Amino acid sequence: NTGRFSGKTALITGAGSGIGRAAALRLAGEGAQIALLDLIDERTRSTERHINEVIRGNSRAFDVDVSDPIRVERAVKEAADQFGGIDVVFANAGINGTLAPVEELSFEDWEKTLSINLSGTFLTVKHTVPYLKQQGGGSIIITSSINGNDRFSGFGMSAYSTTKAGQVGFARMMALELAQYKIRVNVICPGAIATNIDSSTELSEDLQEIVIPVEYPEGAQPLAHGPGHPDQVADLVAFLASDESTHITGARIVIDGAESLL
Ligand code: NAD
Repeated sequence: NTGRFSGKTALITGAGSGIGRAAALRLAGEGAQIALLDLIDERTRSTERHINEVIRGNSRAFDVDVSDPIRVERAVKEAADQFGGIDVVFANAGINGTLAPVEELSFEDWEKTLSINLSGTFLTVKHTVPYLKQQGGGSIIITSSINGNDRFSGFGMSAYSTTKAGQVGFARMMALELAQYKIRVNVICPGAIATNIDSSTELSEDLQEIVIPVEYPEGAQPLAHGPGHPDQVADLVAFLASDESTHITGARIVIDGAESLL
């Protein structure tokens, strides 16, 4: 394969669906070997099949819960062994989790969202960094959100918003810490994107009444009437993964068609 990522390996979490799947197909289409890490074996297998049989690329699915330190470490090692290293990391897996007023949000539900979205990002970065160092550099991309950073789109998202703001602080520190190894670390902040993320939402009974739909000021409208497409986010991921962004690190890039400005 002679694409832009030929000879490179990308490890992607949450690769079975939505933004992660779109990024996997894009990078594979441009020659990268892909390690697909996700929980949902069936969806991840279908992404794997699509890459290997339709695109005629090279990918392998790993059934991994990103909040499980041992499984993440093991899958990263297996991927690096199989593909001969890791060059690009897309820490993208995430859930909306339980939406509830803070006094109704259980400690368990709070911790579940933090452990997948925030600790999952930490574990993915922690265990892949040694392999990026071995390659003499690399690119890490983390999926945060406008939620928690630019716009708060509904009540009840205290845990989610905390993780999405936390990922930004983590990425900035990583950009500083890893620059000496030529490892770049950037964060993307999507607005609403048409994926399966809503199936990861659990609503408390109270909340069904107080969620406020986003309303735009009169006369103002975002670029698109409705959510963005995962392929539009994949374009940004491919740019940040590529040698076209070698001087970009520690950046936080909003990709929301103006949603957070309205
Ligand atoms: P999605 O639900 O379509 O895909 C998320 C994937 O992550 C799924 O395949 C799911 O199985 C996987 N996942 C969930 N928990 C996991 C775990 N514990 N271990 C491993 N994999 C796990 O949703 P998406 O919209 O593509 O979400 C990707 C990222 O984008 C998330 O971090 C989300 O917070 C972020 N995001 C999404 C939107 C949006 O509107 N869709 C907006 C802003 C940010």
